[in-house]
Amino acid sequence: MDIFEKRRNNLKELLSANEKEFDAVLIESPENLFYYTGFTGGEAAFLMSVDDKFTSTCIITDSRYYEQVEKECPDITLIRLESQTYMEVFKKLLNSDLTLAAEDTMSITRYLKFAENIKNVKICIAGELINRPRMVKDETELVIIKRAEAIGDEAFTHILDIIKPGLTENDIALELEFFMRKQGASKLSFDTIVASGANSSMPHAQVTDRVIENGDFVTMDFGCVYKGYCSDMTRTVAVGKPSDEMKKVYDIVLEANMRAMAGIKEGVKCNEIDSLARDYIRDCGYGEYFGHGLGHGVGLYIHEEPRFSPKCETITKENMVITDEPGIYLPGKFGVRIEDLVVVKKDGCEVLSHSPKELIII
Ligand code: ZN
Ligand code: ZN
Repeated sequence: MDIFEKRRNNLKELLSANEKEFDAVLIESPENLFYYTGFTGGEAAFLMSVDDKFTSTCIITDSRYYEQVEKECPDITLIRLESQTYMEVFKKLLNSDLTLAAEDTMSITRYLKFAENIKNVKICIAGELINRPRMVKDETELVIIKRAEAIGDEAFTHILDIIKPGLTENDIALELEFFMRKQGASKLSFDTIVASGANSSMPHAQVTDRVIENGDFVTMDFGCVYKGYCSDMTRTVAVGKPSDEMKKVYDIVLEANMRAMAGIKEGVKCNEIDSLARDYIRDCGYGEYFGHGLGHGVGLYIHEEPRFSPKCETITKENMVITDEPGIYLPGKFGVRIEDLVVVKKDGCEVLSHSPKELIII
């Protein structure tokens, strides 16, 4: 049994144990298509039987992907769209009273078309159940994510030799991106953030043509996709001599990052990890300047469950991959964020980001 079949069986078990009595599941998001079938093309529909009321497990796609599906999913029946629409094929296959589990990314258009055309099928959004297995990574996934994060570390080492006053944020972002692609990344895991000077007070600032000056903080938040999996890291460096306030805020963020990290292990509520960083920042007087969650799961998609946030009550499990990224953002002045990617372990965590965290002054 290959890994994809194992995952499908696992999902089948999860869905059939649910009180909603699902008969089948429909998967269309690129991440879940890959996770459950191995198909990397992104555009297809995977229908799977959950109980005996529906038996036509298959993958439906158009002619661009026939060969790819045959190669990547040899044990799943391929249904060729040819001149039919997806709805026409669904109607033929889903021809009895069925409860269909769907992802929460199903479009409203798709949902309404089902309601209009296939009245015998009841759609139940079951995104949480379908995505749940992805929270805990297997060994193969961990090896890939480690390499993805290592590419980030290499990019950071590289960029330290490049950053200097006179360059723009765009120059730095491009250099990071070009470097990661050259190390084997297939694409970026999200739009690179390079925020300098007062721009760094915006946690998700757009990269601009602002010229780096002496006395700036430069926050770089970047990651790549390697063999389908994302990496994510943030470092803030000072260009020229930082002010006392900049140094003070940097040290607080670093301490918050380390305090949270010291508490990450299996069996802890995610919001308790968030508090380890948040309470410290609040006690230092900067609580109102740390607005976002402490971290998020990372995998096939850059922002996955669970979250280190005040609201997330999920209990950590071994081999979840999550970020630890506290920040303090002082509007109009500057911001600092330090982000590491970690793997939850039984008695602690394994840190995948190896770039230095003490304040680097360029
Ligand atoms: Zn990030
Ligand atoms: Zn992140």
